[in-house]
Amino acid sequence: MSVHSAQFCSQWRSIMTRVALNVLTVIILLLSRCCDANRKLLVFLIDGFRYDYMDDLQNLAGFREIVENGVKVDYLTPDFPSLSYPNYYSLMTGRHCEVHQMTGNYMWDKDTMKEFLIGTNPDSRLPMWWDGSEPLWVTMQKLGKRVYMYYWPGCEVTILGVQPAFCEEYVYNPSEKNLIDSMENALNMLKSDKADMAGIYYEKIDVEGHHFGPHSPEIQRAIRSLDQAFQTLNQKIKEKNMRDDINVVLFSDHGMTDLKWMEKVIELDNYIDMTYIIKMMDRGPVVSLWPKQDKFEEIYQNLSTVDNMNVYKKQEIPDRFHYKNGRFVSTLTLVAEPGWFITENKAKLPFWKNGTEEAEGWQHGWHGYDNEFMDMRGFFLAQGPDFKTNFRAGPIRTVDVYNVLCKTLGIEPLPNNGSWSRVECMMRSSAGAVRAALIYSCLLPLLLLTL
Ligand SMILES: [Zn+2]
Repeated sequence: MSVHSAQFCSQWRSIMTRVALNVLTVIILLLSRCCDANRKLLVFLIDGFRYDYMDDLQNLAGFREIVENGVKVDYLTPDFPSLSYPNYYSLMTGRHCEVHQMTGNYMWDKDTMKEFLIGTNPDSRLPMWWDGSEPLWVTMQKLGKRVYMYYWPGCEVTILGVQPAFCEEYVYNPSEKNLIDSMENALNMLKSDKADMAGIYYEKIDVEGHHFGPHSPEIQRAIRSLDQAFQTLNQKIKEKNMRDDINVVLFSDHGMTDLKWMEKVIELDNYIDMTYIIKMMDRGPVVSLWPKQDKFEEIYQNLSTVDNMNVYKKQEIPDRFHYKNGRFVSTLTLVAEPGWFITENKAKLPFWKNGTEEAEGWQHGWHGYDNEFMDMRGFFLAQGPDFKTNFRAGPIRTVDVYNVLCKTLGIEPLPNNGSWSRVECMMRSSAGAVRAALIYSCLLPLLLLTL
């Protein structure tokens, strides 16, 4: 062989090697993509489920199976205020309340005089309350993926011009049958590729916690019945042969603490003239006040003397609440000490209503307090091919959950306030890399043979 042809041969071999490597890389990328694309996500938002409600795992077979097959964190610290809507949105955006703008269950926009009220109030669907950030289900839809949502508050709203592929609209306190039916439907949609992600909301734990308190027999009963539903879920996942294809993530928005009958009530009209208040939103642990401008200092001074609560001007609200820069935050914010309840006067206390709309009793549980207060902590569980098994993780925060969900879906998270370092430990982190390495190790001998 001449020098010339030997050089040609070596160049040719080097070109072929490069081509082969490129082809191999493309194959690996395609295979990893295709595996990720088949990976489905089912999410449960269990309102008001405190981190310790599942402590008695011996008697909760459904929860126990998930814990043994997956990940449990010590607790989930909510965002401030430890209320539902702010945390629903922190969970689905990974952003703090002052960033995503959903700062309360009750909000008021002083420019338009519109109100956001928890529940099914029509004005609560206005884009201004929701468009402050893009929740995960909107991102998914924008990427051409399909999200099915069941009773999830806000799924009926057009956010940034987008709605989920399917929304079973929120109704007050969906029944256990609603929960089971939603699970069956969601699993079928995920299995048949009609949905890439499904979200199911369940309210009963919060409702019973409010009515009877976090230590009541009623809450125990509700937890056991939720556990039955999760036993059914585990069974259905096995029956449908979906264990390797579906990640299931379960979490709550906040916890619950005891309220004592009429004992710890702060009546504002004992301290201020309520006619000086232009607007008051919400009662309970966090109250938003907009006093008349010329009475602002007087109101502030008077409220500063009240025991068992703090009053803040907007810029005085502690930074750690990540709340004060919210667009709908009032000029004065009142925050009660744990267990205390702020109202105008006792006549305005929130008695809950029975079926005939008659006031039946004082509520025995509440939430919304300082988010570092232990009783406000929620729970987080996860199982599936992207999660470690029988793994106990340290505490995480509400804003961390979004990154976990994005990871399992194989989508790039939007900028957020979550910390990947707090959640990375629970992932079979290298899931993608391990798959790629396996594929690579299988294909490498073939490559070598071609050279
Ligand atoms: Zn609640």
